[in-house]
Amino acid sequence: MPNAIVVLNAGSSSIKFSLFIERGTSLEPDVRGLFEGIGTAARFVMKAPDGSVKAEKSWPEGAKLGHEEAFDFLVGHLRSELADDRLIGIGHRVVHGGSVYTHPIRVDPQILRVLETFSPLAPLHQPHNLLPIRRALERLPEVPQIACFDTSFHRTQPEVAQMYALPADLREAGIMRYGFHGLSYEYIAGMLPEVDQRAAQGKCIVLHLGNGASMCALSGGKSIAATMGFTAVEGLPMGTRSGSLDPGIILHLIDRHHMDTRRIEKLLYKESGLLGISGISSDMRTLLTSADPKAKLAVAYFLYRIGRELGSLTAALGGLDALVFTAGIGENSPAIRSGACRDAAWLGVEIDEKANVEGRRRISSDSSRIAVYVLPTNEEVMIARHTHTNVRIED
Ligand code: ADP
Repeated sequence: MPNAIVVLNAGSSSIKFSLFIERGTSLEPDVRGLFEGIGTAARFVMKAPDGSVKAEKSWPEGAKLGHEEAFDFLVGHLRSELADDRLIGIGHRVVHGGSVYTHPIRVDPQILRVLETFSPLAPLHQPHNLLPIRRALERLPEVPQIACFDTSFHRTQPEVAQMYALPADLREAGIMRYGFHGLSYEYIAGMLPEVDQRAAQGKCIVLHLGNGASMCALSGGKSIAATMGFTAVEGLPMGTRSGSLDPGIILHLIDRHHMDTRRIEKLLYKESGLLGISGISSDMRTLLTSADPKAKLAVAYFLYRIGRELGSLTAALGGLDALVFTAGIGENSPAIRSGACRDAAWLGVEIDEKANVEGRRRISSDSSRIAVYVLPTNEEVMIARHTHTNVRIED
């Protein structure tokens, strides 16, 4: 009777799920899928590892299927999928572990209450991440629930990299640089030893360029600096997020444009970034194929900020051995990789355009001083591994 692990990634109106089966010492991906439109017109789809659709169901607009009902439906479905396999744990992606949780943790009702106190730090993500944990603790009390945090990986950073120049009492109240996308960076750091020993042991910058985008400086595989800080809105411009701004702009928006907190939140998280600049789309594919000058400006700004952050993170590392591109844009866009590498020529980055267009793993030329890689990230696998380890430790 093989052991099974379920990985959940719950958002405001969706739950992504994947199932892993223990085979010897490895975890084999099994079915995966998505619940979307939760709260409006919900749709469930589950796919086999080969991508073929295994199950599908849609609910009409008026049905208003909530998160809890979606979770119950999902568990019921996975239970029949599991048949004789034993569900040994559920791993949850949780955006915020505060400064306390430097590792994944098994959640009990008391820890859940602590995690809820981090919700004001990530109001658009944390409450949704915690909903399935609460439901699972009620419905499946015998199954360990493991929370894996996007912030934990960055707790190895030196103190100066984790702080802002604010009075000490505010720093003690938790206003610090947490950093995000940690599960993705951890996965990439774990791959580096088999890809490039020098990069694994040396100085490497990972560019996680997706809808959410950030960059992380790794020294010997550990995070020493990152572009996202107190929230996942700092750093690079993203699909709809602004990235770094002068804090004075917020004061100006309040004073002169009479915006309140929620209005500014919507502006910074939903209306800015690539969408805000272009007025066309948050999707990089659309922008790259558009002839509209505003689309070109959005792409130019994205690359410009990548270039500046690259310089900053290289300074934090005191040098550079390798670059790694990952996530939706990083893995799939030769144009963005090419533009970013061109801007980094001063660092000794030289790209092999043929390898880049072909999407090979190593895309730097033989004479490049800096090795450049394209490595697909896999946050689900990272969560499954953490869940497996935590469940095993408790056995
Ligand atoms: P998320 O942060 O939501 O996980 P992803 O990592 O899936 O996002 O990345 C989504 C982004 O990747 C979108 O902006 C999409 O346009 C971009 N993307 C996907 N494929 C390509 C491609 N071939 N060329 C350029 N951009 C792409």
